[in-house]
Amino acid sequence: MSEELLEVEKRVQLAKRLYSAHASKLLLDKGFCSLLNAYSREIEKSKRLMVEVGLPGLCSYCATKIPGGGCCGSHIATWYDPLVLLLNLFMDVEIPDKSYYKDSCRFLGKEGCALKARYHFCVNYLCKRIHEHLDEEKVSWLKAQSGAELFLAWKLELYLMDFFSKEGLIFSNFDIPS
Ligand code: SF4
Repeated sequence: MSEELLEVEKRVQLAKRLYSAHASKLLLDKGFCSLLNAYSREIEKSKRLMVEVGLPGLCSYCATKIPGGGCCGSHIATWYDPLVLLLNLFMDVEIPDKSYYKDSCRFLGKEGCALKARYHFCVNYLCKRIHEHLDEEKVSWLKAQSGAELFLAWKLELYLMDFFSKEGLIFSNFDIPS
């Protein structure tokens, strides 16, 4: 395993440890649960909108017909911090231990991204081809919806950081003591 992938694996394991140690308490926390439910709803709205404007067809064309054409490069997984990964565990995501496709992001499954909670780049990146195929109105819908989803992700991350600091875990460059 490359050094890059080892680092991602470390963060996944850290997210799992945090989940095992703190999920029961967080799942009784009304503030956390209400934000998590709202976030989950926004993620579903984002998915529906992507289908409505035709993104899956455009993205799968690049991923399957153009060599190296998909935008889920292997290095992107290294941008994920344990908190975003932890949010996935709270939404019952099974985090894959390797990419389904060669030389792609570790979180890429056969049918697309396996994650629900995604880093901002993955949520709001719209490539040149998308801009060429969608009219301005559709692009603005996508941007507005990405904003709504990412706003809740940000609120949840702040909530978790506050929660963990009260538990005596201090975040520094996303490294959390085990
Ligand atoms: S969308 Fe998912 S699979 Fe693609 S780069 Fe982002 S995390 Fe990886």
